[in-house]
Parts: sequence; structure tokens; C-alpha cells
Amino acid sequence: MASLSAQQQRELLQSNLPAEESFRASLQRQSSLQVLQLNLGRLCNMRCSHCHVDAGPDQAHTQMPEAVVQQCLDAMERLKPELVDLTGGAPELHQSFRQLVRHARSLGCRVIDRCNLTVLLLPALADLAPFLAEQQVEIVASLPAPEELNTDAQRGDGTWKASLEALRLLNRLGYGQDGSGLELTLMSNPAGEELQQLTPCDEIRWRKTLAEMGVAFNHLIGLNNMPIARFLLELEEQQRTTTYLQRLRQAYNPCSVSGLMCRSTLSVSAKGELFDCDFNQMLEMPLPLNLASVGLDDLGGREIITGNHCYGCTAGQGSSCSGATATSAASSSSN
Ligand code: SF4
Ligand code: SF4
Repeated sequence: MASLSAQQQRELLQSNLPAEESFRASLQRQSSLQVLQLNLGRLCNMRCSHCHVDAGPDQAHTQMPEAVVQQCLDAMERLKPELVDLTGGAPELHQSFRQLVRHARSLGCRVIDRCNLTVLLLPALADLAPFLAEQQVEIVASLPAPEELNTDAQRGDGTWKASLEALRLLNRLGYGQDGSGLELTLMSNPAGEELQQLTPCDEIRWRKTLAEMGVAFNHLIGLNNMPIARFLLELEEQQRTTTYLQRLRQAYNPCSVSGLMCRSTLSVSAKGELFDCDFNQMLEMPLPLNLASVGLDDLGGREIITGNHCYGCTAGQGSSCSGATATSAASSSSN
């Protein structure tokens, strides 16, 4: 599958909306740093159609080098984030994944593993799930929908059955069970150009459907599909980029801004560059800061680097790594 360069993506995002409709909201970082998000590289055992990082089995060359891993370990001590968020690709495939987890936990940080579930079934990683439980790592697992058809359409044939098997494995270890302290969050995303609109009724439906399959979980969150990377290419091929950007823009919700992840997150790329979020990472819109020396004073109050892709985070209920950022889906045609 062909892919778009970061520059091509930035140009498409800019040219597919008139200048007067561009994303203009001014966003500032909070004074504290809550999340240090480490992207360990784009190696993944899957290749999903909505993937915003163009991950896949052929991306071993993109894995974070050991020198950068060491800088991440040092940054955890210096920045003291509440949470270390490990993402990829499939972050578990990085050889230093467990070292990073142990170090973060020894510093008292919560740790999130953004897990595609199927990676837990790889024979070479048979001890991974018990390791995650032992370290009390919180799992945020991608599952597009509580049905086989939609899940396999986005993530490939057989993903639904494999995901359920992995979820049952996690449940047996205590994940998703009341009182265990092992948090299991499911992260869904809508099909194609739909906006994410999870309601309490949806959550009830997910719980009931999955319970019938012997699966329990703690939380359900939803994300809009970001108009970048593989999904932007798909929109381009269907000549739908303008339509989707307009849909996001028209659903702009000012109430979503205060909870945006970029206000309290520092995102580190596999190369060790720093970003306000991993979407900016994909679009190569870096912060002028250095991983080896960045301090909290460099971050607090800093203006966030934005673009038209930010409509993806601010449309409808809002969308971030922890799900909706607004409780209402009020919309506004300007920002
Ligand atoms: S599992 Fe996640 S990282 Fe891997 S291809 Fe799918 S969306 Fe991308
Ligand atoms: S893409 Fe989203 S998280 Fe990133 S800077 Fe824009 S609004 Fe913030």
C-alpha cells in the first residue's frame, strides 16, 4: 500500500479547507505534565485500515534505538509524569518494553500499554500477559466494535476471534474484574467517516454483548478517526478529504478543548523528537526541545502546534487518548 509523506499530509490537510475555515483555536499547555507518551516504533503484527501511524509487520527498521530508550528512562526521572503511556505499533514488540515498564513502575508512575490484543497471543510472547498483570500495567485495548463484522473489516479477518481470546486471557489474570486493581479499557473507533458518539446505551450494549462471550472490561472509550496517514490516503482515493474535514469542522465543540491530551502530554517519537501529541508526530510538527534536556519549565504554558487535523480531536464529543473530552456534543461552525 502506498503511503503519504508528512509534508504531503500537511499540504492536503491545509488545501482541503478554505483558509477562513482553518483550525484557529489557540491552545496552551498546562503547567503540569501528566503523561509521558513513548512511541516505541511502528512495528506491529497487524496492519489496520484506520491506523494513524502506518504501522505493520515490515516496520522493524522504525523501532526506537537503545540510545533513545536510555534518554526516555532518564526523562521519566527528570519529568516525573503521573503516567507513562507506551504506544507503537505494538509497543510490546520492542526489546526494551519490559525495561521501560519496570523503570516507570519503580518511580511510582502508572503505566498504560496501548495493546492491540492479538499481540498477546504470539507464541514468543506467551509470558507477556502475566508480566503486565504482575507490574499492574493498565491496558487500553483497541476493539473497533463489539461485533465480528465491523472489527474484521477494519483490522483484518480473524481479528475478532483472536481479540476475544486475548480478552479472556486478560480476564483470567484479573483484568477487568472488580477489585483486582487491573484496569482494562476498550477503545473503539467508528467506521470510516462517522463521528464517535458513544452513549451510556452503547456501553450497556458492549457490556452485554461481550459478557455473552465471557468477556468483562472496566471502561469503554471512543475516538474519532483522524484524517492522517492511512485513513487520509483512503479519503484521498475516494476524493472525500474535503467532505470529512468539513464534517469534523462543522462538529467543532469548544467544550472539548480543556480536556485535549496535548495540554498535558509530552509525546516522544522513536527517534527521540518531542511533540505535543502523536498526531503531530505523524505530521512531523515537532517541538523545538530536546529529549536529553527538556524540563517542566520548558513545557508549562507553551503554545501547542495545531493544524486542521486538530478538528479530529475537537469534533463532537472530542477525542483523545483517554476518549471523549467533552460531556456534550455541542457544535459550532467556528473556532
Ligand atoms: S494494531 Fe494498532 S498500531 Fe497496529 S496496525 Fe492496527 S491500529 Fe496500527
Ligand atoms: S491533533 Fe489533537 S492532540 Fe494533537 S495538537 Fe491537535 S488537538 Fe491537540
